[in-house]
Amino acid sequence: MDFGLNPEQRAMLDTVDRLVATHLPPDEVRRRDREYDPPAHLLKAYSEAGLLALPLPPEYGGLGESWTSVTLVHERLGYHAAMAGSLFGTTVGFGSMSVLTYGSEEQKRELLPRIVSGDLRFSLALTEPGAGSDAGALITKARRTDKGWVINGRKTWISDADRADYLLTACRTAPDSKGSAGITMLLVPKGAEGIQMTLLEKIGNNCLTSWDISYDDVLVADDSVLGDVDNGFRNLMSTLHYSRAGQAANSTGQAQRAVDIAVAHAKERVQFDQPIARFQVIQHRLVDMQTRVDQARHVLYHLAWLISEGMRCRKEAAQSKMVATECLQFVTHHGMQILASAGYSAESDMQRLWRDARLYTFGEGSNEIQRDIIAREMGLQV
Ligand SMILES: Cc1cc2nc3c(=O)[nH]c(=O)nc-3n(C[C@H](O)[C@H](O)[C@H](O)COP(=O)(O)OP(=O)(O)OC[C@H]3O[C@@H](n4cnc5c(N)ncnc54)[C@H](O)[C@@H]3O)c2cc1C
Repeated sequence: MDFGLNPEQRAMLDTVDRLVATHLPPDEVRRRDREYDPPAHLLKAYSEAGLLALPLPPEYGGLGESWTSVTLVHERLGYHAAMAGSLFGTTVGFGSMSVLTYGSEEQKRELLPRIVSGDLRFSLALTEPGAGSDAGALITKARRTDKGWVINGRKTWISDADRADYLLTACRTAPDSKGSAGITMLLVPKGAEGIQMTLLEKIGNNCLTSWDISYDDVLVADDSVLGDVDNGFRNLMSTLHYSRAGQAANSTGQAQRAVDIAVAHAKERVQFDQPIARFQVIQHRLVDMQTRVDQARHVLYHLAWLISEGMRCRKEAAQSKMVATECLQFVTHHGMQILASAGYSAESDMQRLWRDARLYTFGEGSNEIQRDIIAREMGLQV
């Protein structure tokens, strides 16, 4: 295993830095967070820089790069801003990989080049009021008719649903089924009649808008199925390592940013006639923070390598998501203590990182569920 970056990967990260400096400078990040204004314009810039093409095969307009390259880009975007990383993650880690992994050949040829060109976005509509961690408890139904599928039900906490061209909606299609059986993933196009969305207010990740969605006799075409009828849950599970790797990459990037902010502040802030970085207690805190980030990064790069090699990685994906998101909470918690009042200011980047971090240990599959997966992989559920 080689942990060194090749010249192409170095050049790619330089491109990411330049792109963000041009399209999302730090003041813009602060303004957008304050005004709940997602940086949707970044998608075209990602496309022009080739970032959306990275993991896809050339026959669908892709560059056929390794998942390690995708991970490096995602981590660097997260370093600049969570909002930049999450836009990349939902498009590449979720949208592209869902279509590529379980879409039909026709869907791949139609949808993937449009993702690469930055013209197509997806949201995952899985969670319901009664189905969070227990996603198999979902009750939104789709009935097959001679005109197509008719959907009735409700989804909640669906990210960026207002900007998605398709809501990839998990529906129960086998009427008497329970749990993960009998579910189908349906592509519901933007503006479909019978959809109503309500914005949910929340305490962080302000540029990842969250929606409650009701489906009232929503009709979609017969060929709107992505994957297999009644086997959608398994289809969805087959891509979860990509989104877990994405969450880990975004969190690791943000965590490194938090450490860098804290180090800079500790060197600059003078109390008792010396920079606070001279106090051993501050030094040790910063050492522990950087060590946690390095640990998260190593687990992440190992996972990226496993994915690139097409190897089984259920345990490592759960571990990486868990380690990185808990690292981010640790470093932002201590970062806030080191910055003290300077961190508590609404102008500070540390408070945004700290607020945003709170989501990740339960979003995208809570860390309790990740621990359950790891326990299963260790053969503990005897
Ligand atoms: C900002 C945001 C964005 C989101 N984006 C999306 C999205 O785009 N699409 C989507 O479909 N969903 C989305 N979600 C939903 C998210 O995936 C869920 O919040 C998550 O799965 C947890 O579900 P829950 O909040 O209902 O918690 P619950 O399932 O009610 O869990 C509550 C607590 O109980 C614990 N728990 C539950 N079951 C077990 C168990 N068996 N063993 C041990 N502990 C357990 C959990 O770990 C958690 O600590 C989003 C949520 C948020 C807040």
